[in-house]
Amino acid sequence: MTIKEIAKKALNHFKSRGYIFTPSEYEEIFCKIAKQYGVIIDDCNKIAKYLSKLDSKYQAIAKNYNIKNLDELLVFLINYINRENTSKEKESIEQLFLYVKRALDVIAILPIVKSKKIALKHLDFIKPYMEKEEYEKLRQEWIDFLDLFDASIVRRGAAYAGIKSEDALEVIDALIKRIEEGPDLSHLIDAIIYTLTPSYAPFMDDDIAMLKKQLQEDPTIILTKAFADDLRILTNKRIKLDKDELKQKLKDLDQIAERISIKIVRMLQKTAGSSKEIKIIADEIRNWRHEGQDFESIKEKLLTIAVSIDKELDEFSEEMKREDNEIERLKEKIKYLEKKVKKLSKEVKTDFLTNIANKKAIMEELKRQESSFKRYGTNYSVVFFDIDHFKNINDTYGHDAGDVILKSLGLLFKRYARDVDMIGRFGGEEFVAILPNTNIDGACKFAEKLRKIVEKTKFMYKNTRINVTVSGGVASRNETNSMDETLKLADERLYKAKRSGRNRIVCS
Ligand code: GH3
Ligand code: MG
Ligand code: MG
Repeated sequence: MTIKEIAKKALNHFKSRGYIFTPSEYEEIFCKIAKQYGVIIDDCNKIAKYLSKLDSKYQAIAKNYNIKNLDELLVFLINYINRENTSKEKESIEQLFLYVKRALDVIAILPIVKSKKIALKHLDFIKPYMEKEEYEKLRQEWIDFLDLFDASIVRRGAAYAGIKSEDALEVIDALIKRIEEGPDLSHLIDAIIYTLTPSYAPFMDDDIAMLKKQLQEDPTIILTKAFADDLRILTNKRIKLDKDELKQKLKDLDQIAERISIKIVRMLQKTAGSSKEIKIIADEIRNWRHEGQDFESIKEKLLTIAVSIDKELDEFSEEMKREDNEIERLKEKIKYLEKKVKKLSKEVKTDFLTNIANKKAIMEELKRQESSFKRYGTNYSVVFFDIDHFKNINDTYGHDAGDVILKSLGLLFKRYARDVDMIGRFGGEEFVAILPNTNIDGACKFAEKLRKIVEKTKFMYKNTRINVTVSGGVASRNETNSMDETLKLADERLYKAKRSGRNRIVCS
């Protein structure tokens, strides 16, 4: 029988069954037919060859699996390797972990503060599968501790063990013996009660209180199975309480967040110029509130919001301060402008040189007097004063001297006039007095009085005495038919005074 014939038979085998075969199915049938006809084909004995190389223990197991092809051999090997090695490794790691935990438990109840602290910390930290670096870190802490393990610690240990020796080994031996004889379970009881007490939920279950009482009365119940069962039930209860409490707290936080977001939205509506950041945060709160986020991320976001609101408020108060300053500045400006307006309105009616009424003010007063005359028939008089030869004074002593004389004369006239009288400078070196309720005689007397005062007054300029005289023309309203005529008459009389020799008053 040739290989070709065996192949043909194998193909017929599938053909007669109307079956589409896989290469390994074909190989199986091919090898079976070859074996039937006693033909030895190397490829068909591969499996047996590989299996013979296995350890006798595995060969025996493989026999039970009836491995027919390479695929089956591989599946067998993979399964076996996975199951055997990892479970063994896992088991030994778990054993090691339990062993370390036990050792830490023992160290944790030893009365040495530092080692106890490290042991408690490591008990929290260790887990069955840790990274090499994590183990290294824990190991280093114990190395550091041993470096610091000095005689004083040994002495304290010795005191606890009730012996006098300072030999560390002897002390530790004694301690271990003590713990073995009567382990001090009070620390362990505290730890158990602590783990049972809910961390978030505020109340303590009656069951826990009862258990604590039992433990305090008889610590050895820790070692019973009933205690282990109770512990499991209570631990689950505690976890549930914590979960419920946490849920409630999250709900509370959610409500706070909701209020904050409403406030922010209102703030945004009020302040048009709010920062973009606040707007983003408001949007964010609106979205994350419905996503059921955890405690930490809610806390983080609230913190971000608080910081942003703080920043916003800072900017807001800065802006307010700036606005306050601006308002203060504007107030000052208004005050200044009001003063200026007052001053200007006074200036409008005041002669700049002599600081007495100017022509405009005089004309206004005249009009007032005129209307009073027309309405009530109250008379008034007008006096025109003109400095004599003033041109000479200017020419002789200078223009500044002339100005000083004009100023002094203004003051003088004002001082001797009544409050109701108005004294003003009409222009140049001409002064006018308007005397309400005064007839021509009274006005003449007044003018004459002033003329005399001027004549007698010593006008000083730079240590030089300057003689000044004035001429005056007086007219009364009831002498004429109008205000203008009165002015004209007073002016004519002044002219007359000048022509008739100056330093005199003309009243008729
Ligand atoms: P009269 O006795 O005829 O009035 O002679 P007068 O020189 O006073 O009169 P005139 O009208 O010839 O001259 C007036 C002078 O007054 C001329 C002008 O320079 C002077 N004067 C007018 N206004 C001022 C002023 O504000 N300051 C000074 N220093 N002089 C002025
Ligand atoms: Mg004149
Ligand atoms: Mg003059």
